[in-house]
Amino acid sequence: MIASDLRVGMGHDRHRLVSGRPLILGGLTIEFELGLDGHSDADVLLHAVTDAILGAAGLGDIGEWFPNTDARWANADSAVFVRQAIEEVRRQGWEIANLDCTIHAERPKLSPYKRAIAARIAELLAISESQVNVKAKTGERVGPIGRQEAMDADAIVLLVRSATPA
Ligand code: MG
Repeated sequence: MIASDLRVGMGHDRHRLVSGRPLILGGLTIEFELGLDGHSDADVLLHAVTDAILGAAGLGDIGEWFPNTDARWANADSAVFVRQAIEEVRRQGWEIANLDCTIHAERPKLSPYKRAIAARIAELLAISESQVNVKAKTGERVGPIGRQEAMDADAIVLLVRSATPA
């Protein structure tokens, strides 16, 4: 393997927590009194994952592909963004080696959901669950995360060259 056969990409996102919206993380609806605000379903984790995938392949960012000014993406299921990103990345001859991500949320406790979220992301990307890792951290009761004003997500993905681009 030579260096040009590998590409790393990172993604970060933040959404505000508000009442009257469902909490959707990694494609799963999670029982909580607050939800994430945004143009789409505001799935902060899938947005970070999408950006990591696009970034690794040198394909810009989620805002270029799915502008939040476009009515098509109003209340959109963010799974659509992940699927379209990975489809384009595969078309360009890349495959995912692994994906690691972190959700930053004071509450609810996310440890019971981590495995299910990883399984859902693996399903969306058509890769094995063993290639996906999901971590969760609190904000230690300080800052916008700790005050439950927002949730953040980070994602990092490694792509490996699978084929010569079409
Ligand atoms: Mg977002």
